[in-house]
Amino acid sequence: MSVTAPTKTRATVLIVAAIFLTIMASLIWITARSYYTDAALSSARQRGAFYRSTLVAALEQFEHLPPVLSEDAVLTNALTDAQTRQQASERLNRFTQTSGLEAIFLMDSTGMTIAASNAGTPTSFLGQSYAFRPYFNDAMAGDTGAFFAIGATTHQPGYFLSHPMPGLDGTPLGVIALKRDLTQLARDWAASGEQVFVSNAAGVIVLSGVDNLTWRAVRPLPNAELAALRESRQFANQPLLPLPDFDAVSDQVYINGTPMLHVALPVGQLGWELHYVTPQAAIVVRARLVLGIAAFAMLAALALFLVTRQHRTRRALGQSQQARRSLARANAALAEEITERREAQLSLAAAQADLERSSRMAALGQLSASVTHELGQPIAAMQTWLGASALPGGTTDPETTALLARLTSLVARMQGIVRQLRFFAHPQAPVLSPTDLRETATSAMELVNADSSVPITCTLPDNPVTLPVDAPRLEQVLVNLLRNARDASTDQPIHLTLRSTAQQVEITVRDRGHGLSSPDAVFEPFFTTKASGQGMGLGLAISAAIVREHGGTLRSVPVDGPGAEFTVTLPTGTLDA
Ligand code: ADP
Repeated sequence: MSVTAPTKTRATVLIVAAIFLTIMASLIWITARSYYTDAALSSARQRGAFYRSTLVAALEQFEHLPPVLSEDAVLTNALTDAQTRQQASERLNRFTQTSGLEAIFLMDSTGMTIAASNAGTPTSFLGQSYAFRPYFNDAMAGDTGAFFAIGATTHQPGYFLSHPMPGLDGTPLGVIALKRDLTQLARDWAASGEQVFVSNAAGVIVLSGVDNLTWRAVRPLPNAELAALRESRQFANQPLLPLPDFDAVSDQVYINGTPMLHVALPVGQLGWELHYVTPQAAIVVRARLVLGIAAFAMLAALALFLVTRQHRTRRALGQSQQARRSLARANAALAEEITERREAQLSLAAAQADLERSSRMAALGQLSASVTHELGQPIAAMQTWLGASALPGGTTDPETTALLARLTSLVARMQGIVRQLRFFAHPQAPVLSPTDLRETATSAMELVNADSSVPITCTLPDNPVTLPVDAPRLEQVLVNLLRNARDASTDQPIHLTLRSTAQQVEITVRDRGHGLSSPDAVFEPFFTTKASGQGMGLGLAISAAIVREHGGTLRSVPVDGPGAEFTVTLPTGTLDA
């Protein structure tokens, strides 16, 4: 099957449109995703900064308390006087309850806890040595200590702040330390619905508002570092496994198998980092929404384009159809005008022919009038003389008798000619009387049959065909037609047919003779093919004039085969009135 050119073009347009739409959709998808990713990262940075400020506020909230406590006389005494340690513990307990801290405790220079706010409780720090803790060693070195660890005694994580207890010479006699519980902060983060966690300098997550993340590592810890952490008991016996699919420096990570956007913000001087993560699903949803709206807009634009084009095509088609109709109308009008002009030309030609014929007939009438006038009297006189010479008592000479007979015959012929010419010289109005045309036709046939050897047959209607006609003259017409047919025929029969309809009567004379040599000329006066003395060429001219006087026509009809046919047509209504 062959593929047509328009089908090929349409397929090409569809392929190009599909490629274009795919490229556009991809660009929109990439742009929308990138835009919403940037927007989400920017928002994440803002939210992370907010959470960092809450964390920093929590960490700094009590950083002035250890230095203040290091000046406290009761605590300073407790370092040197064992009797006051009970009092010191009670004092620390009151401070704890007032501040909301988890614990405040006093260590001597060996790291042994000598007074503690939780003295007397099952998890009392009293009597415990924390010499291994960095915050103790930092304070004994004269610095302020800050440390996050899982409690060695309580096994609860906490943020430890420490300060040296100065002796009289300024040398630290011991260390005052407090433990802040930050887990409530993490619970607040979780309750906010946002996902925030904090890793320490080693990369271990020490605080998390997200389930299952605490004590995991944001990057794999080297074995040596892992061993050192175990040694310091900072995170008790936690395995500190790294988070799977988590790249701490990337902004796209996986949390519990879910793709998330990630921002990491540094927190203070501890080397901590606050991580804020947010699901990427929202970005995908928004980008899809944009893509959907763009696709809808593109399809709407395409539909609008197609509808507009279809509308334009329809309008153009309508205009072209209208133009075609106008052209067809103009053509029809032109054709009508041509027909009218042709008819007018035909009418003109007919009128001209009529005029010519009328003027010929008028000339013929004048000629005939003078001929009949000039010849009528002499011929009548000759006839009289010849009649007188034939009377008894006239000549008996045979030669003379024969001559007289020939002269009589010639005079008779001349009378016949004059009689015919008289028709043109003195045309008379027909005298009409109702006549059964069957009788007229029969009478004409009988007249011709009398002196003819050619058989004449006829077809006549059963009912009378009565018309007001000048019967003798119409009979003269039929006689003339029958005689011409007889003269042209040898032995083939001549047939006369009389037909009548509501509008007209037709009388047809058909012969099978030699036919017409010049069908157009036969009605012209003096046209004859007969030998001199046989015809004058006036018979058909006179017959046509008589039929015209009756409002009818006489015409020769083309025939198949040999012979000729003449038809007289008379209107039934014209002469009825
Ligand atoms: P005429 O008979 O005196 O010649 P017409 O006017 O009657 O004059 O006829 C004119 C001519 O028309 C005839 O001479 C003849 O040539 C031709 N014609 C008329 N009728 C017939 C016919 N039936 N068959 C052949 N020719 C005919």
